[in-house]
Amino acid sequence: MTLRHERAERHTIQIRKGDNVKVIAGKDSGKSGRVLSINPKKNTVVVEHVGIIKRHTRPNPSKNIKGGIVEKEAAISVSNVLVICGNCGKHMRVGHTVLPDGTKVRSCRHCSATLDKG
Ligand SMILES: [Zn+2]
Repeated sequence: MTLRHERAERHTIQIRKGDNVKVIAGKDSGKSGRVLSINPKKNTVVVEHVGIIKRHTRPNPSKNIKGGIVEKEAAISVSNVLVICGNCGKHMRVGHTVLPDGTKVRSCRHCSATLDKG
């Protein structure tokens, strides 16, 4: 095992695409939504309806782009969001449970429900 490997392990993002998360910091604090994408290199996530930025776009007929204001989710830091448990509805930092067969799964720290299915 190399040092580089250990470092990468420690900073693994515990949030997965499709998770429901709650924003706990920043201008959208208190909002919740579904994770649309994750950027592990930047430690950011894009959450549905969170961090909306308005982009003014010019029409570009050759690319079939209509002009106007486009609303788009901007990436926010993973440290600003917590996963919401689908079982008990509480938000938390993700815990881990090792199943009897040795598989490590993400789990809820409140009700011990498994967050990963399959
Ligand atoms: Zn729970």
